[in-house]
Amino acid sequence: PMSSTNDIRASFLDYFGKAGHAKVHSAPLVPYNDPTLMFVNAGMVPFKNVFTGLETRDPPRATSSQKCVRAGGKHNDLDNVGYTARHHTFFEMLGNFSFGDYFKEQAIEHAWNLLTKEWGIPAEKLTTTVYHTDDEAFELWKKIAGLPDHKIIRISTSDNFWSMGDTGPCGPCSEIFYDHGEHIWGGPPGSPEEDGDRFIEIWNLVFMQFEQKADGSRDPLPKPSIDTGMGLERIAAVMQGVHDNYDIDTFKALIAASESLTGVKAEGPTQASHRVIADHLRSTSFLLADGVLPSNEGRGYVLRRIMRRAMRHAHLLGASEPLMHRLVPSLVTEMGQAYPELARAQALISEVLEREETRFRQTLDKGLRLLDEATGNMGDGDELPGETAFKLYDTYGFPYDLTEDALRSRGIGVDREGFDAAMAQQKAAARAAWKGSGDAASGEVWFDIAEREGATEFTGYTSTDGEGRV
Ligand code: ATP
Ligand code: MG
Ligand code: MG
Ligand code: MG
Repeated sequence: PMSSTNDIRASFLDYFGKAGHAKVHSAPLVPYNDPTLMFVNAGMVPFKNVFTGLETRDPPRATSSQKCVRAGGKHNDLDNVGYTARHHTFFEMLGNFSFGDYFKEQAIEHAWNLLTKEWGIPAEKLTTTVYHTDDEAFELWKKIAGLPDHKIIRISTSDNFWSMGDTGPCGPCSEIFYDHGEHIWGGPPGSPEEDGDRFIEIWNLVFMQFEQKADGSRDPLPKPSIDTGMGLERIAAVMQGVHDNYDIDTFKALIAASESLTGVKAEGPTQASHRVIADHLRSTSFLLADGVLPSNEGRGYVLRRIMRRAMRHAHLLGASEPLMHRLVPSLVTEMGQAYPELARAQALISEVLEREETRFRQTLDKGLRLLDEATGNMGDGDELPGETAFKLYDTYGFPYDLTEDALRSRGIGVDREGFDAAMAQQKAAARAAWKGSGDAASGEVWFDIAEREGATEFTGYTSTDGEGRV
């Protein structure tokens, strides 16, 4: 049965709306209740204060389709885009939430009913996981879904234990996987092949059951809560009978637009470029609509990094003029109704994308030429020297990960340590130059500030090892 992605979103919200949940519009991508988090990366983020008890909600149940970006910090899926069937930098997380109201049994019942009864997904295609000590969840899956024991897999890693932070609500979780079939490489969760794309995780049910204390102990919560998250694009793939997220209606439309504007079919080696462009168009447009502007630090740098990466792929497809802004109308056609803020910001998004791409194209050619020269006789397993990567960054505006991405198809790596060292050296040189110029006392103060700013900027592009902190 074909259902559009827009229909599936509506159907999810209606299902939980009928079950007493308040329908809540997605919060902006820039978290308003957590200045330390780079971008909202899960449906529960806007409800943090409700889960910790600082805020209350009536009714104590909510449902939403939350805009999420995972392109930095603890959850960074940037490098997966274009290469796995299931990862985006921007995606929508469908969720139902119980704030101290219903718990495990009803959460499992709702999930199972929606998937198998309302939407008619065959039960035999589904496998679940539970945290290894969560006998209660194991028994509930048996009772409610009638799943055989081998399809309720006990997992002992942190994948199946969720916590909000070092302290606060936490608890076991249970994930639901869809089996796309034997012809695709991969194995069930917990197996050595689990990272393949055969069994794709569609829904994560979190049972907030304990309060993590600073001393390491855990107390049971007086009123346990539920937080669930299902990737809309992943469930759309299942319901549209395709394996790959990039083959669902929304992505097909965006890729068709970039095919027609570049005159290059998404086949073989150009497929990844079209996918990266479509994905990054969504993340950059939604970030711009939520007030993030490209800059050289923090959130703005993550945005710029994503944009430039897409722009390099446009160049790779042979686009001789800026491309990204010309794709915006297709995106608004696909998603503007569900997200009026996107439609409202259309002019701004187009303007910023065109300006940025025009500007970046001025140095892109020269940078790529330098990169070609530097790697002319390199091959699989070789490494680009860190100083070259730094020069590309410093002189040609190539974000580090763009250089990495550009060399990936040839199996060439980048010397990260060398890059960091070159960066540190440049900062030290600037510092020394400043000190030598006279007024030492005020120089110190200036550099204290610059250093702190620098630290922010640094997180902007190395955030793979950060904690999602700005
Ligand atoms: P995976 O293991 O596949 O990376 P995850 O365990 O990191 O997923 P969760 O943090 O549990 O994902 O998020 C809840 C749901 O959101 C997932 O079950 C999945 O359907 C969806 N999801 C997570 N990351 C992405 C992404 N980068 N792109 C698209 N959907 C995603
Ligand atoms: Mg993940
Ligand atoms: Mg997972
Ligand atoms: Mg998960």
